[in-house]
Amino acid sequence: LVVLERVNKHFGSLHVLQDIDLTVARGEVVVVIGPSGSGKSTLCRAINRLEPIDSGSITVDGKELPEEGKALAQLRAEVGMVFQQFNLFAHKSILENVTLGPIKVKGVRPAEAKEQAMALLERVGVANQAEKYPAQLSGGQQQRVAIARALAMQPKVMLFDEPTSALDPEMINEVLDVMTSLAREGMTMIVVTHEMGFARRAANRVVFMDAGQVVEENAPEEFFGAPRSDRAKDFLSKLL
Ligand code: ATP
Ligand code: MG
Repeated sequence: LVVLERVNKHFGSLHVLQDIDLTVARGEVVVVIGPSGSGKSTLCRAINRLEPIDSGSITVDGKELPEEGKALAQLRAEVGMVFQQFNLFAHKSILENVTLGPIKVKGVRPAEAKEQAMALLERVGVANQAEKYPAQLSGGQQQRVAIARALAMQPKVMLFDEPTSALDPEMINEVLDVMTSLAREGMTMIVVTHEMGFARRAANRVVFMDAGQVVEENAPEEFFGAPRSDRAKDFLSKLL
């Protein structure tokens, strides 16, 4: 569903993505881990065209994302993204945060968008907050709204970039639980996270990045049980 071929990206002299090859099948959950600065966020942003690449190709469901314009907005809708900072629209209600994209980008009628949004807010457990504004919600609630907002666009794949690392410990699980059920329901997901419990529980595959390269890819039990590369061993030993 998502195919990256020989993707390269530089920031000045920094080679932040080096010949990245990555294929994510429909329904697959891939967890991306690696040290700070290894290029994980840049990879997510590149998949969504928030970051242009220098060479290589990235396709989602067989289509390259166009550089700009309306076609980009529509194709981008197929790739839901959830960031570390929830990035909700501060001056819109929770309900409006979720209905805005479908109405503006997909031309869904407001009444229908509202009905779908309420169902999604229900699913992530914050339907009772629909009329509030983001600042009135806890971090965990805001992040669940961000997930509902992304799902409202009916994406083919969901990208998560450290969705729980800005949260207080007691809120992490409520977000991971939503992500775990999404995974179980068959959503295709690429998840950058340091939550190894989630990786073990929900991932089909772990991709370990270091210094702009995919160093190792493996099933979670193999990766955590017997990492092949020294860099992965070193990284995992520091986590424990
Ligand atoms: P973290 O775990 O800290 O989030 P990361 O793996 O997500 O790290 P990236 O954010 O992708 O890493 O950054 C990779 C490298 O690219 C870092 O060295 C970073 O400083 C650099 N970088 C990221 N964005 C830019 C930018 N817009 N301009 C210049 N350098 C950048
Ligand atoms: Mg990052």
